Amino acid sequence: MTTTTEPEPLDETDSPESTDAPDVRYALPWHVATVAARRRETSSAVSLELDVPGWHGALPGQHVDVRLTAEDGYSTQRSYSLACPGTMGVARATMPTEATTARIALTVQVVEDGEVSPYLAEELVVGDQIELRGPIGHWFVWQPRDPQPVQLVGGGSGLVPLMSMVRTRHQAGSRAPFRLLTSVRTPADALYAAELDALASQDPGLEVTWAWTRQAPAGWTGPVGRLDADALAAACLPPEQHPHVFVCGPTPFVEHVASTLVSLGHDADRIRTERFGPTG
Ligand SMILES: Cc1cc2nc3c(=O)[nH]c(=O)nc-3n(C[C@H](O)[C@H](O)[C@H](O)COP(=O)(O)OP(=O)(O)OC[C@H]3O[C@@H](n4cnc5c(N)ncnc54)[C@H](O)[C@@H]3O)c2cc1C
Repeated sequence: MTTTTEPEPLDETDSPESTDAPDVRYALPWHVATVAARRRETSSAVSLELDVPGWHGALPGQHVDVRLTAEDGYSTQRSYSLACPGTMGVARATMPTEATTARIALTVQVVEDGEVSPYLAEELVVGDQIELRGPIGHWFVWQPRDPQPVQLVGGGSGLVPLMSMVRTRHQAGSRAPFRLLTSVRTPADALYAAELDALASQDPGLEVTWAWTRQAPAGWTGPVGRLDADALAAACLPPEQHPHVFVCGPTPFVEHVASTLVSLGHDADRIRTERFGPTG
């Protein structure tokens, strides 16, 4: 793998929703990031902590493009959400203008037979380098100074950018009421379970609800299966509180959850979505 850093054209890989964002384009350079630590989250997911010289910070919810280049020059890239944005609780307008080395984190869920995710999750070791550019996305972001209630709904690895929001809220000392509903197949697939339990147990402003689609933990008395209107109504902040809503996961999950929340009375304009389909 090589780590070239030639200039790139203006970035145009934002999520579709960001067309509503201010008409600002960022020329994003490729950074060479070094793997500083790796942590196994589940049998098929790994978190990578990356040291990135020249990183100017990010807001929770944003993602990066990762580019891999083979010896023969073949190159491919994929999008990964920041699990930890590196510069916590700092609004873009007040971010340092001087380049700094920051540590960011990604969490990669292995897609069987995938080209990039098995390499990132299973083969990268501490000290290896990869190229990345970002932060990308100006729509699916939570502003740490915003005191409004927030409802997060994640499916599978769609929890990653939502975890970035939860971590940022904690580190920024925000008191914005947060509720997180995270849907996973089985307890063995639950990302960040211990950290979320610890954060929720010490902070009455953060409520975390797990939903299981295939197998629940021993002693579970609730339903098992796809989130339906009853489950969403029970776990989510009521529409009367006008929460900001962030929904992330596979495309069918996101569409189902968002349309169900609208049918429950949530304002469609307050629902922001991120789809983890193949990078297009
Ligand atoms: C904005 C954005 C943020 C993302 N953030 C994360 C993240 O934080 N963590 C993470 O693990 N992934 C994330 N993804 C998904 C990631 O970009 C890749 O799509 C994923 O890692 C698969 O890449 P691959 O090269 O291993 O598979 P590929 O070689 O691209 O695909 C192999 C096969 O799997 C299918 N496939 C590809 N991607 C997915 C997918 N996501 N789910 C199910 N099937 C798929 C393909 O259609 C193909 O059939 C994000 C995607 C987007 C668009």
